[in-house]
Parts: sequence; C-alpha cells; structure tokens
Amino acid sequence: MQMPAQGREWKEVRAEMVARGGKDVDWRSGRTAVYVFNAGEDIHHVQQDAYTLYMSENGLGPLAFPSLAQMEKDVISMALGLLHGPEGATGAITSGGTDSITMAMKTARDFARATGRQHGGHNIVLPRSAHLAFDKAAHLMDIAVRRVPLKGDGSYEADPAAMAGAVDAATIMLVGSAPSFPHGIIDPIAALGEIAAAKDVWLHVDACVGGYFAPFARMNGVAVPAFDFEVPAVRSMSADLHKYGYCAKGASTVLFRSEDLYRHMPFAMRDWSGAPMTTPTLAGTRPGGAISAAWAVMNVLGVSGYREKQGLVCATRERIEAGVRALGFEVLGKPLLGLMAFRHPEVDSLAVYGAMRAKGWFTSFTAEPQSLHLMLSPKHAEVADAYLADLGAALADVKAGVAAAKVEARYS
Ligand SMILES: *Cc1c(COP(=O)(O)O)cnc(C)c1O
Repeated sequence: MQMPAQGREWKEVRAEMVARGGKDVDWRSGRTAVYVFNAGEDIHHVQQDAYTLYMSENGLGPLAFPSLAQMEKDVISMALGLLHGPEGATGAITSGGTDSITMAMKTARDFARATGRQHGGHNIVLPRSAHLAFDKAAHLMDIAVRRVPLKGDGSYEADPAAMAGAVDAATIMLVGSAPSFPHGIIDPIAALGEIAAAKDVWLHVDACVGGYFAPFARMNGVAVPAFDFEVPAVRSMSADLHKYGYCAKGASTVLFRSEDLYRHMPFAMRDWSGAPMTTPTLAGTRPGGAISAAWAVMNVLGVSGYREKQGLVCATRERIEAGVRALGFEVLGKPLLGLMAFRHPEVDSLAVYGAMRAKGWFTSFTAEPQSLHLMLSPKHAEVADAYLADLGAALADVKAGVAAAKVEARYS
C-alpha cells in the first residue's frame, strides 16, 4: 500500500478494517483456544472504555500523570496481595510476558554483578518446558541458557534434582513455571526453592499464564501447590494481566520480593543532552490505556468475579478432560488450571489437530510429545460439547484415513 495522496473518510477506512478481519479466526464464537482470552462482552466493553479514557496519556511521565502512576501502584499491590508478596515487595507493569521476563533477567543479572558474581559468562537454568521468552532475553543479553529435561515420570514437571546439577557459580537465575505453557503443569516450586536457597541462586517463577488464575482456583478449592512468594526463595515473578487477568493486551506485571532486588531494574540516565530520565522497564513511552484498562478490569471483576470466571474455566477443563479420555486420548500430567494438552496413543495427534483446524477450531499444539493443546477461556463453557463432538468426528476421520491433509502446527 502507498499512503493515499488525499486522506480517506474514516467511515470508509473503518469499514475496510472490519472487512479485513473477516478472514481472521472467529474467536468471538469461542472456536479459538489460543491468543485470545474471552471473558465475554461485558469485560470486553470495560477494557475498551477504560483503555480509551487514558489512551493518550503516557506512563513514562508519573509527574505529569499521577493518575497512571497510582493505578500502576494499585495494580501491583493487588497482584502482590494475590501472590503472597511480603511487606516491601514491589514491581511494575510491563508490555507483556516477554517484557516481564526480560526485565526479571536483567534485574537478576545486575543483582549478580552488584553482589560479586563475575561479569559475563552468566547462565540461567530452566526446565525444557519454560517459555522461549527466556531464550530471547538471554540472546539479547548474551546469557547462556541451560534447559534441563523434565522428570521422566509422566508428570511433565520440572526436575529439581537435575536442575540442581546444572547450576554453577555463573548461574544467575533458576526458573520454574506456574504453569508451563506447553503442558499447563505447575512445576514443583517449593523443591526448586530449596535448591535456590541452598545454592543462593535467584529463583524466578514464570506465572505469566497462571498468576491471575491459580490464586482464584485455590480459593475455589483446587489443590494448587505453593507456587508464589509463599515459597521463601522466590525472588521474582512474571504474571500477565492480558491473559487470565482478562485485561487489554499490552499489560503484564513483573514482581520482586523486595525493593532491594527491584532497585536493579530501573534504568537511570543523565549523561546525554536531554533531561535526566529514569525508566523502570524496557519501554520508554508506556501506553496509559493498558494500565488504566488493567486497573478497571481488576476493579470491575474483583475477587468474586475472578473466582467465578476461573471456576467456570476449571469446570470446562474437567469436562473436556473427561470427554477426550472417553475418546481414547491421554491427558498429559495432571493439569489444575485453564491449560491442558492431550494426545492419542495410536493416532497421529497432528493429523487430528489438522482435521480440527479444517472444522474451524484454531487451537495450539505441543511438540513434546505431539499433542493437541487448549488454553481455555470462560467462553469455552458454551462450546465444549461442540468441540468434543467435532473431536470425535475428526478422530474417526483420521482413523478412517479420510481427514483433511495435515496443517502446519505453529504459533506464529
Ligand atoms: C504467554 C507466556 C509468556 C510470554 O508472554 P507474552 O505476553 O506473550 O510475551 C511467558 N511465559 C508463559 C508461561 C506464557 O504462557
């Protein structure tokens, strides 16, 4: 496209934009279980309205916009209240999970430098199932990544003993997920905490997808093991507002046990022509809308609203677990939250995945072992039966050799 020489009418431009979306996945109907967290029309409306209220304001300027600075403080304080943040714990809103993880790693590295661990040659130790954002950040900062195989017992949990063996004097961070994205399984954070304490290594819990889910599941009676700051060795956490926080996209939280750890995160600069500036996270300009929408959704839902939505998601996951088992699939490990992965012992799961895509279901896929993957939203309660019916038909088609050709399974 070339920029139009004369501007066009907004009405016409808007209509074209809506039409372009016609080829996208139909997530509004609930037939997508990745990328979008669908908490319903009412919450969508709150996100939209609250975002536009502060869309032009900039979180870079807390002196100019004390409103946003206070909303960010409130969001962090609500997060720490849910995740057993001790007195003095703190954090910041970032643009997303990758940003939160990058900043936690940068903070751990600068903490290591400040406390006498050697410069350069650093490494992080993480389970095979941890999110690729750690590798991306490690690539940026020239930190080595040591991925350690999971326990071989079918639990799909991180293996603390094997991870302990990978830690050395240059290790600046140990990672556990709550839960992992590929399998939806919560790593044994308490056991990782013992290793981190014994070796005096920074423990980060990646609760990007579970941080705003697990606390409410636990309130609803799910036996969620200790995974947050309740484990004393946990020094930092990432928790995405734009996932199960049901907030507008572009919002996550990075949290630290103490101000003393946090102070290694902000970047302060005065040695240039401009005014001295301090930024807490990777971003310069920070979209006010992402902050205000997060603050609004958390206030509108409250504990009771989140409990209700997460309860609905857990109930849907249990229904789908039972349904896929009845069809002969195996569920990987024991998922407790909104994610699950399952595979068939005899039938190619990638072929079933392709047949489901052909039926209009856009979900994710796990590579190790090859499995169908679901990240469920409250909306899926309405379509679980339709999903299972189509899954049964897709499985039968694959078994009979009449399914559509395999599609490429990838995230992006
Ligand atoms: C989504 C996710 C991330 C990355 O978050 P983005 O917001 O996509 O950058 C990191 N870890 C886990 C476990 C996730 O599910």
